[in-house]
Amino acid sequence: MSPTRRPPSDPKAAQHPLGAAWAKTEGTCGSCAWSTLRGPGPKVLRCVAADYRPVLAEWRGCASHEAELDCLDCAACCGPAFDAVEVSQRDPVRKRLPQLLVRISGRLQVPRTTENHCAALDRSDNRCRVYADRPACCRDFTRGSANCIWARRRVGRSPRWTPTPKER
Ligand code: SF4
Ligand code: SF4
Repeated sequence: MSPTRRPPSDPKAAQHPLGAAWAKTEGTCGSCAWSTLRGPGPKVLRCVAADYRPVLAEWRGCASHEAELDCLDCAACCGPAFDAVEVSQRDPVRKRLPQLLVRISGRLQVPRTTENHCAALDRSDNRCRVYADRPACCRDFTRGSANCIWARRRVGRSPRWTPTPKER
C-alpha cells in the first residue's frame, strides 16, 4: 500500500499503524532517527527499525522511536556487538597501517581489547584512532543504517521490533 493512502495515526488507537506500541515520549516518525527516504521506485519515508516499511512523517512515534543517535555515546559497532574487525585482501589499510593488524586463525584483523572493543577505538572519547584509514567493514556501519540498528540491538541500546499477535 502506498504510504500516502495510509490513514494518519490516531493517538487514541491501541497501536502505532505499523503494529508496535506507542512511544512513551513525544516524537513522530519524521523526527525518528530510524526513518529514512528510500526506494525501490520513488523514494518514500521508510522505517529501518521495521524492515523498511513505509511510514508517514506526521505519525506519532512507536516504542522504537529514537530522537537521535550519538555515536560517541554508543560505539556498539566498534565494541562488543561483534567479535572481530576483519581486513580483506583489497583493503587499503593492509598497506597503510600494517603495524595495526594481527593474524588470527589465518585472517588479518584489528586486535581486540580485553573488553572486546576494537583496539583502534579510544575508549576515553569513543573516537576511532584510525578513522581516515578504517577498514572497509567499518565503513558499512553508518549511523541510522540497518547495520547500525543491528549492532545497537545486539548490545541492548535499541529495542527490538515487537510484532503484534497479528504479525506473528
Ligand atoms: S521506529 Fe517507530 S517511530 Fe521510528 S520511524 Fe519506525 S515506526 Fe516510526
Ligand atoms: S553507527 Fe550506530 S552502532 Fe555504530 S556507534 Fe554510531 S550509533 Fe552506535
